[in-house]
Amino acid sequence: MDSAAIPFLAFGPQHDPIREQVLAAVAAVYDSHWYVLGDAVRQFEAEYAHYSATAHCIGVGNGLDALYLSLKALGVGEGDEVLVPSNTYIATWLAVSMTGARPMPVEPDTMTYNLAPDLLAAALTPRTRAILPVHLYGQACQMGPIMAFAEEHNLWVIEDNAQAHGATWQGQVTGSFGQLNATSFYPGKNLGALGDAGAVTTNSAEAAEQVRLLRNYGSRQKYHNEIPGVNSRLDELQAAVLRVKLPYIETWTHQRQQIAAWYTQQLAGVPDLILPATAAGATHVYHLYVVRTSRRDALQQHLTQHGIGTLIHYPVPPHLQPAYSGLGYRPGDFPVAEALAATSLSLPLWPGLSEEQVVRVSEVIRDFLRE
Ligand SMILES: *Cc1c(COP(=O)(O)O)cnc(C)c1O
Repeated sequence: MDSAAIPFLAFGPQHDPIREQVLAAVAAVYDSHWYVLGDAVRQFEAEYAHYSATAHCIGVGNGLDALYLSLKALGVGEGDEVLVPSNTYIATWLAVSMTGARPMPVEPDTMTYNLAPDLLAAALTPRTRAILPVHLYGQACQMGPIMAFAEEHNLWVIEDNAQAHGATWQGQVTGSFGQLNATSFYPGKNLGALGDAGAVTTNSAEAAEQVRLLRNYGSRQKYHNEIPGVNSRLDELQAAVLRVKLPYIETWTHQRQQIAAWYTQQLAGVPDLILPATAAGATHVYHLYVVRTSRRDALQQHLTQHGIGTLIHYPVPPHLQPAYSGLGYRPGDFPVAEALAATSLSLPLWPGLSEEQVVRVSEVIRDFLRE
């Protein structure tokens, strides 16, 4: 491998220093002989609830299930509509579809790429039951106006906080605004497990109990099933790993923000390049640093040739995915989401990426776009 190669994501700087700590936690679970719904999950749930400033946290199998079980716990289903961003990872939409409800796309704000609160009203129908804001790329949504709209129209709010652990809107942490909120600890997220994992956070004891039932076969007492649930439990092993990593998230977030600041400094003023912008009142924890250019595909190819890894989040918006052909949307229906899909490029960003590396990525971008 080219020694100057810069991968899109590298776990080494995060994982190498805590290797012994993580392996000791794994060994402790191994030796406990208790592998599902035990002390590690209970302790992680308490710690993550505290981190999220919510009364309750329920560990589940992954982020998609966290969204799905949140919607189920609120009774969303067949015949209902849920307002979702037109630009998001498809999991946000799939969770809605899995309940039998219909995802109703709302275009994002063109500066932040997050759900535009002033466009919610146009998507509202008598069937609308909930709003599912996504704190995309790590920037908190405009939760004030979104919560006000939800209250006015008697809608549930379920935050998709998979990309924004620790972000805030007007000082309040994401994952604490909605009635129920979902997050993912997929390995590449800001807080990642060593496999699939997710969680629901809520201030409602009643809703928490409902999710606890749903994630475990609808059962409180073994072999007694109160409601038709699913099997989506957070593993003891993953909970033990997450307990080790949680205390580091703040340090890692600061590193992400520092890296983003370096990029912004290096790339300011480059022609045909739009940099991320953070709205007043919001903080950004930079799960991704996403730039936009009309020459996206050529730039990506150029970076690849220079050993620099990039990804596109996301190349095809959900409404144009074959999986959603049944909804009958066509190209042009959600032009902002489509423009983002055509122009966005995510640059390397991971705790441990050096200023030198950021400068190198930026130089390659500048040289290309100034040609
Ligand atoms: C990763 C992600 C999910 C899904 O999480 P999984 O754990 O992979 O199921 C949902 N929504 C968004 C915005 C995500 O980035």
